[in-house]
Amino acid sequence: MKALDELTFDNRFARLGDAFSTHVLPEPLDAPRLVVASEAAMALLDLDPAVAETPVFAELFSGHKLWAEAEPRAMVYSGHQFGGYTPQLGDGRGLLLGEVYNEAGEHWDLHLKGAGMTPYSRMGDGRAVLRSSIREFLASEALHALGIPSSRALCVIGSDTPVWREKQERGAMVLRMAHSHIRFGHFEYFYYTKKPEQQALLAEHVLNLHYPECREQPEPYLAMFREIVERNAELIAKWQAYGFCHGVMNTDNMSILGITFDFGPFAFLDDFDAHFICNHSDHEGRYSFSNQVPIGQWNLSALAQALTPFISVDALKEALGLYLPLYQANYLDLMRRRLGLTTAEDDDQQLVERLLKLMQNSGVDYTLFFRRLGDESAALAVARLRDDFVDLAGFDAWAEQYKARVVRDGDYSEEQRRARMHAVNPLYILRNYLAQNAIAAAESGDYSEVRRLHEVLSRPFEEQAGMEQYAQRPPDWGKHLEISCSS
Ligand code: AMP
Ligand code: MG
Repeated sequence: MKALDELTFDNRFARLGDAFSTHVLPEPLDAPRLVVASEAAMALLDLDPAVAETPVFAELFSGHKLWAEAEPRAMVYSGHQFGGYTPQLGDGRGLLLGEVYNEAGEHWDLHLKGAGMTPYSRMGDGRAVLRSSIREFLASEALHALGIPSSRALCVIGSDTPVWREKQERGAMVLRMAHSHIRFGHFEYFYYTKKPEQQALLAEHVLNLHYPECREQPEPYLAMFREIVERNAELIAKWQAYGFCHGVMNTDNMSILGITFDFGPFAFLDDFDAHFICNHSDHEGRYSFSNQVPIGQWNLSALAQALTPFISVDALKEALGLYLPLYQANYLDLMRRRLGLTTAEDDDQQLVERLLKLMQNSGVDYTLFFRRLGDESAALAVARLRDDFVDLAGFDAWAEQYKARVVRDGDYSEEQRRARMHAVNPLYILRNYLAQNAIAAAESGDYSEVRRLHEVLSRPFEEQAGMEQYAQRPPDWGKHLEISCSS
């Protein structure tokens, strides 16, 4: 276990130089205080969890103090936003403080979001509000606990600094961690500004640090792109299987590591709705729940375009062709597991699609349906779940098909079935209304609800005593919350 001043830095991205990022010091927040910290994220830095409560912790992650070895930098990138190219974006309100490596030799970027203005702030104030910082914190840690690759969050620090959005709010900072903060948009920036030398340096950097095994391949850059395609196909399969809607899948929010990245107006589905749009400024539904699949491919094509100086167009196209089949295989595998199936049959895809259609038409709670399906034998579970459906004949037909499929799948006890299904079907997810309750309490100075929710969501598959209220469908007021897109 380490104390805060014992972190070891190795600032590999900063060493790429000024073409890639700009030195900027964080601008401190007034009266910083700890809102919430993740013990699990602290463990990744070998930090003693007790240090979260010390004043220096809040000072370090609110811009008041800095390690001597930190080298805070704002990164430059660009990207396609809602399908249109924006030539220059960059860290407008976040800083890469430095890269720390832990005792296991893993490097972690420490990125402070809400740290003040940078050369890339454009019209923004460089700040993040408490509300959006809490949402990013809870979502990163909850996704990780669900087994969905994501950036991590160490802590949220609140303050008295006023920040103006639709109304006056308070500034906060969230300390984000990832093995890299490089986005598709980094490659696009150097491609469209016609800086081939820097682009090659960036490609080498990513290859050496994050895809070293691709070095052994005859075409290392192509192997790396294939790997990025695969990771994104797997990631988006998990989003779809667990009902996560990102909301702003611009290429500047896509990680070259294939992790969930940059949280805005995201939402988990309550009722199943393939057409769900969580981002209220997304009028055309470009980033609707079901569109995440083709948009994943669109974004990879944008990255492919930026890689044309290194890789032939034919090879890029071939690699892009891997995306859909891989997505489908991963998604179906996860959905089989959610249904408690251990074997594969040709009709499984259709079994899943029929179920989703029925859920869609009846507004069935996506998470609770699968959890309850595993509570008892298939026959008993479907009999109990039947009442949630409007189209009873349709559900009965599906239930017959499912029960027969379960029989063919194998002979296992109810206990085995429950254990296997509960291990993949969470009881607790970050429902928007739960986040909203925690935020409302935090805004009035009570951080206990954020902390409790974080704690519950860190073990989503495990039924926790006294936590029934976190495993309910939303109340009416919480069903269709409009989450502000300003953050
Ligand atoms: P996002 O929608 O959070 O992914 O942000 C898109 C771009 O706008 C990024 O370059 C951000 O750094 C920048 N940005 C968002 N909010 C602010 C803000 N309050 N101040 C400065 N830049 C911002
Ligand atoms: Mg972003």
